[in-house]
Amino acid sequence: MKTPRLDTLILTAALGAFTLAGCGTSSGQSNNDTDAAVDSPDGGSEADTGGDPTGEAVLDPSHFLADGLTAPIEEVPCTLSNGDETTCYKVSVVGEPKDHEIGPFCPRNVSDGPEAAGIWLEGGEVYDADGAFIAGLAEFYEDPNWQLHDEATGVIRVTETLEACEAAARPDVAEEYQNYCVECDLEDLGGAVAAEYLIPKVPVPRATAGELGGTTSVGVALNGAFFDPPAPVAAILGAYTIAAFDDCGGHVNPVAGYHYHAATGCSKEIAQDDAHAPLIGYALDGYAIHSMSAEGGEEPGDLDSCRGHSDDARGYHYHSASPGENMFIGCFHGEVVGTVDDGPGGGGGGGMDVITCDDVPDGMPCCGDDVCDGPETAANCAEDC
Ligand SMILES: [Zn+2]
Ligand SMILES: [Zn+2]
Repeated sequence: MKTPRLDTLILTAALGAFTLAGCGTSSGQSNNDTDAAVDSPDGGSEADTGGDPTGEAVLDPSHFLADGLTAPIEEVPCTLSNGDETTCYKVSVVGEPKDHEIGPFCPRNVSDGPEAAGIWLEGGEVYDADGAFIAGLAEFYEDPNWQLHDEATGVIRVTETLEACEAAARPDVAEEYQNYCVECDLEDLGGAVAAEYLIPKVPVPRATAGELGGTTSVGVALNGAFFDPPAPVAAILGAYTIAAFDDCGGHVNPVAGYHYHAATGCSKEIAQDDAHAPLIGYALDGYAIHSMSAEGGEEPGDLDSCRGHSDDARGYHYHSASPGENMFIGCFHGEVVGTVDDGPGGGGGGGMDVITCDDVPDGMPCCGDDVCDGPETAANCAEDC
């Protein structure tokens, strides 16, 4: 079942294990293997396991917040990007964090302090996106065209309606929404966007590292939210918009709902016995993602380009980048379900991280009918299906 969750700008990777909720594409296979359902990674070995026969299951279903799942994690057959037939965990997440509040994102007035605003990520640094920061954007980016606030009143232009959020989050930002702080209200969008991910039970290393692509999540957090590829900051800035993140490194777009672009320590963590950095989730190739460093510790010095390394206790695993880097992992060390490009991924366009129909291949939710009349959003998806 390959029903990608639409998220970011350009679909280069076509990772295929997602369902866009509300699109009428619920998994037809999900009931075929209910007898194989397990709540434990050690439950049953009768499944047809391909991949690395010496490997061990990495993902531990018990680490997820129960509230963060829409269904118990179960084992299903799956096909990896190298053609291997193997066993995957089907992880059905609610698509929003169940252990912390969402927001705030944009301040409303230049007098608003950091408590009334989220953050912005630039050049490896994390900035409070407070009123003073918004007022100083022209200086910060050395471009006098930045003007998100009214000089007389200090009021900051924020996309406060669903219409405004959709117009400003599209790849080609509507002219009237340039120079806006962009935020979308999850309630206006009909709530969180649930998704299903097929994650290899036993990770299979790739011959060459796989690009993340620009459209799908790179992994799942233990609290029911997603880790997404880097936000297309250059494109966002090109439209003189700031798609502010909350202090937890997430924001809301009309397609994916709430999703993280940075790990700031808000989401559920599993402490490690040996004082190693805590586990925060799993990448779509099945390897664990840990925070960048243990508390008070330093980033491991031997990370590869995907931000992974191995040790005796955990085998291969990733360490998330620092929040200011607008990313979690650099590439996939292992095979994922569906296909993954070796070429460059992501980037392009403007707006937040919403794709247009032109970028979506046939067979994907919403655009498979060839009737597309604008950017696909969670709001118009059901009609288009
Ligand atoms: Zn985003
Ligand atoms: Zn490590």
